[in-house]
This record gives sequence, structure tokens and C-alpha cells, in this order.
Amino acid sequence: MTIDDVQTVACQNCGAKWKIKTSGATGNIKTVKLVKPSDDGRGQEYLSKETDPEFWASLAREKE
Ligand SMILES: [Zn+2]
Repeated sequence: MTIDDVQTVACQNCGAKWKIKTSGATGNIKTVKLVKPSDDGRGQEYLSKETDPEFWASLAREKE
């Protein structure tokens, strides 16, 4: 049995906040959930939805 670890991460660029759940067994990211949209309102459609790490990575890439 393993216990998942959840941490909240705030984006310094846009003010968005994410809850990132990692597996206690492997340390890999399991799901990413937006808990606060960015200051300019982007990402509202993802609020409170669990997304997979690949999706989250693709969003992060877009912002650069
Ligand atoms: Zn951001």
C-alpha cells in the first residue's frame, strides 16, 4: 500500500495554482488539478478538473 502525496504549486508567471498528486510509490506525477486560474483568466475551463501530466506539460509549453 502506498500513500499519494499532494502538493499545491503556484505559477510565478500567471498566478495560477495547481494541485499536483504524486504517487508515493514511484514519485511520478499522477494527476494535476487547477485550483485557481491564472490572473488573466486563462485556464478557467480546466478549473477543478483532474488532468494528466502530459496535458499539463503541453499547457506549460504553450506559455513560454
Ligand atoms: Zn502559469
